[in-house]
Amino acid sequence: MRVTIVGCSGSFAGPASPASSYLVQADQDGRRWSVVFDLGNGALGSLQRHLDPSELDAIVLSHLHPDHCIDVTSLYVYRNYHPGGRHEPPLPVHCPPGTRARMLGAFEGLDPHALDGQFAFHDVTDGHVVQIGPLRVTARRVRHPVEAYGFRIESADAVLAYSGDSDSCPALVDLAAGADLALFDSAFMEGRDTDRGIHMTSRRAAEIAVEAGARRLMLTHMPAWNDQSVCRDQAAEVWPGEVELARPDAAYDLPS
Ligand SMILES: [Zn+2]
Ligand SMILES: [Zn+2]
Repeated sequence: MRVTIVGCSGSFAGPASPASSYLVQADQDGRRWSVVFDLGNGALGSLQRHLDPSELDAIVLSHLHPDHCIDVTSLYVYRNYHPGGRHEPPLPVHCPPGTRARMLGAFEGLDPHALDGQFAFHDVTDGHVVQIGPLRVTARRVRHPVEAYGFRIESADAVLAYSGDSDSCPALVDLAAGADLALFDSAFMEGRDTDRGIHMTSRRAAEIAVEAGARRLMLTHMPAWNDQSVCRDQAAEVWPGEVELARPDAAYDLPS
């Protein structure tokens, strides 16, 4: 399994990275399967450095905050108006209920059939499992102010856990149990952000990764105003190994 960081800037696009988007790929029967998890502000631009968007096999959305989903509207334009011809069949989008209406709302007045010609929306629920080629994706409801999901992504030989946006919760421990990599929201900082139920601090992310027995911890979704070295140090108080920071355009092969 290969994980490419398309975008890792938290809550809004930063100077060095688009908002959230992660490309997960695995091979089966001589062909490569490509699934993108979240497609936040600016992510479609960077995604094109890693593959032709027409090669995507599916999109999975954690929740409907714009920094995780709004570039689905950009991908609609890419697919529907491409001079090489309209892309068909519709691309599967596994997403929270209401995604189709939200995307239509961004266009206002768009014929719904035009959107349905490009995307097939499938509702995600807590415990929902979908098999996309060699990738088995399990969704769990996580702790965020809106309906939000984290994912356990399994291939034949690797496990990735992606928290989406979440404060610490038991579902994240389940998703990351024994995972090769825990890719965890760390938007909040100890000593600065006291609200609960929105994001983890890097320390809370490390606590969940330890409890889950994850092999690697990678902090992501840090807004541009965070001092990343402070976040790393706060996680290192809990995490026994190297605390990794998601870097835009970096790719990681799992297991490693
Ligand atoms: Zn977010
Ligand atoms: Zn959010």
